[in-house]
Amino acid sequence: MNIHEYQSKDLLRAYGVAVPTGYKAFSVEEAVEKARSLSTDVRVVKAQIHAGGRGNAGGVKIAKNEDEVRTYAEEILGKTLVTHQTGPEGQEVQRLLIEEGCDIDKEYYIGLVLDRSTSRIVLMGSEEGGTEIEQVAEETPEKIFREYIDPAIGLQGYQARRLAFNMNIPNDSLGQAVKFMNGLYTVFMEKDCSVAEINPLVSTKDGDVLALDAKLNFDDNALYRQKDIQELRDLDEEDPKEIEASKYDLSYIALDGNIGCMVNGAGLAMSTMDIIKHNGGEPANFLDVGGGADAEKVTAAFKIILEDEHVQGIYVNIFGGIMKCDVIAEGVVTATKEVGLTMPLVVRLEGTNVDEGKKILKESGLNITAADTMADGAEKIVDLVK
Ligand code: ADP
Ligand code: MG
Repeated sequence: MNIHEYQSKDLLRAYGVAVPTGYKAFSVEEAVEKARSLSTDVRVVKAQIHAGGRGNAGGVKIAKNEDEVRTYAEEILGKTLVTHQTGPEGQEVQRLLIEEGCDIDKEYYIGLVLDRSTSRIVLMGSEEGGTEIEQVAEETPEKIFREYIDPAIGLQGYQARRLAFNMNIPNDSLGQAVKFMNGLYTVFMEKDCSVAEINPLVSTKDGDVLALDAKLNFDDNALYRQKDIQELRDLDEEDPKEIEASKYDLSYIALDGNIGCMVNGAGLAMSTMDIIKHNGGEPANFLDVGGGADAEKVTAAFKIILEDEHVQGIYVNIFGGIMKCDVIAEGVVTATKEVGLTMPLVVRLEGTNVDEGKKILKESGLNITAADTMADGAEKIVDLVK
């Protein structure tokens, strides 16, 4: 799960990690009011969307006085920002962050992420901050330094010092940088983050070190024990189909093809997408209904697939292991009737009670094309959609 920059900064502040003073605002009036309560003359008006690259897209503006705060707030609120992370359709700005302007001396990058190859959390840092770190990683990888953290003992002082030193943080600011890294690591661990990215981390002329941007992502599987984080979720930033899917505990990811897929198990879902492509078709989605899908879940899955206007046919590919094929078949029949399905539907069932399942489909009187194997089903749906 993703949260907004201002929410990340509130969280960091609560852990003693240095961030500029700033407040969220939902309207222009509120933005001006919040700006008045800040102690600096220069304030920054920042679009709050779940995507980076806002600066280059006109979503971060430095206001030199109150009038400029108003002008920029009017300009940014309600605007659809298109950044390299939003996709071409962009994201509408509904919230702002109004914060104190900072006298930047130099911009750095700091990130914490799980490194799967070493099974460790890695703290990364670079003096090439502010810009796109992906580009630095590609063109000048030697400018990114890493510290792998032993889970048994946590981030060690010498590691933080070594990283700060490698990042060329000025000597006078080393202490603050180390404190910053420790605080960030504590938030990451205690709040079950999957990513913590500070780009830029800055040093100021006064020797302070603070986060001007903050992006925290959280592990969805840990949200059950992070109730306060769950409350920060902003549904306006998410795909409505994916929200609906998460209510039913379905894993759904929208893609750009025209064949809707309903599958159980992530591995089977991926190979189903592969085999559709192999036959010259394009999957419209990844959808894993999970091990224990019942008629209600199957119906919800059908509805979510059908909400995508590009879908022209559906391929159901289910392996009945824990779930029995006859139960699935009942679910498919009920769902097909309920949603009044008119487009081609190919169903391939395999596993426990497969014969009963096939019988239910056949006797339903519905226009369902049965497939014997996964390849057969893929071929059939690709043909039907053509
Ligand atoms: P994004 O990564 O989405 O472009 P950032 O929050 O990183 O947005 O802001 C872009 C740039 O704007 C930063 O690299 C920094 O130079 C500047 N900036 C952001 N916040 C402030 C601030 N409080 N004071 C001064 N400059 C800022
Ligand atoms: Mg940034």
